[in-house]
Amino acid sequence: MQFELTILGCNSALPTAYRYQTAQVLNVSERFFLIDCGEGTQIQLRRFKTSLQKINYVFISHMHGDHFIGLPGLISSMALLGRTRPLHIFGPRALKEYLDYHTKLFGGRMEFVIDFHLNNPSKKELIFEDKVVEVYSFPLYHGSIPTSGFLFREKRRLANLIKEKLQEYKIPVSQMHRIREGADFINDKGEVVPNEELTIPAPTPRSYAFCSDTSYDERLVPIVKEVDLLYHEATFSEKERELAAKRFHSTAKQAARIALKANVGKLLIGHYSARYPDTTILQEQAQEVFKNTLAVEDGTKINIPLKNREQWRQS
Ligand SMILES: [Zn+2]
Ligand SMILES: [Zn+2]
Repeated sequence: MQFELTILGCNSALPTAYRYQTAQVLNVSERFFLIDCGEGTQIQLRRFKTSLQKINYVFISHMHGDHFIGLPGLISSMALLGRTRPLHIFGPRALKEYLDYHTKLFGGRMEFVIDFHLNNPSKKELIFEDKVVEVYSFPLYHGSIPTSGFLFREKRRLANLIKEKLQEYKIPVSQMHRIREGADFINDKGEVVPNEELTIPAPTPRSYAFCSDTSYDERLVPIVKEVDLLYHEATFSEKERELAAKRFHSTAKQAARIALKANVGKLLIGHYSARYPDTTILQEQAQEVFKNTLAVEDGTKINIPLKNREQWRQS
């Protein structure tokens, strides 16, 4: 029942001695989703204790090196470790060409297939779902390079039945699934027992949105509206606002403005320029607009609880 994000790398184009480039892993009830894969991601996975082989799904935002160059190393290690399960990779067409080239020249034995899923960076679309979670890609605004954000949303669980009420109203097993889905109960005499009397609502589904890299763009607001957790890039401080616009990146304050307008639970900022070894200034500037902001570091873990989610959003 986990919904936990681990930051593996949070620097922008240049890595530093203390921060790797963009990569994150999201654990949704033991599904491990890797989001971007900057250089050295496999080392960070080991460092922060996620087994490489647990990763079955990889989502790549765009074709800047700091977001995908870790893939060949990761794939090589998966092969060396004897992987046989397919690896699903979602990304732009150029990434497929890059990986095809890599796997063609790969010298070792590779006994698993890469199942490549082309995603369209120009519109919001559902790109993955199973019984627990849905993943959407959506457009980010990063100049001429097509770039996608990713939105992870748990599916709504069925409500829980109240045992005593089942006995009291003699509800047959054949009706239980419908009632868990929200139906009222109608007995043989045609009397209606409202659903609220029979069930305890399931916890609200949890959600996470990843927005890196992007310039400030309010078209993101409706897409990330009300998510529990938003990661929005904050490459620069306010002083570099013009540079941020020129390079199609955002400032910390702009990230916070998106969080505020979208009424998200918590904001994480990252993708820092190497000029900020200390990110206090970025966190402070963001917090002037949106209090519940954290400037992440490599290794930051954020766990969204299943229950008491509202309190968590306020904390
Ligand atoms: Zn980047
Ligand atoms: Zn970029």
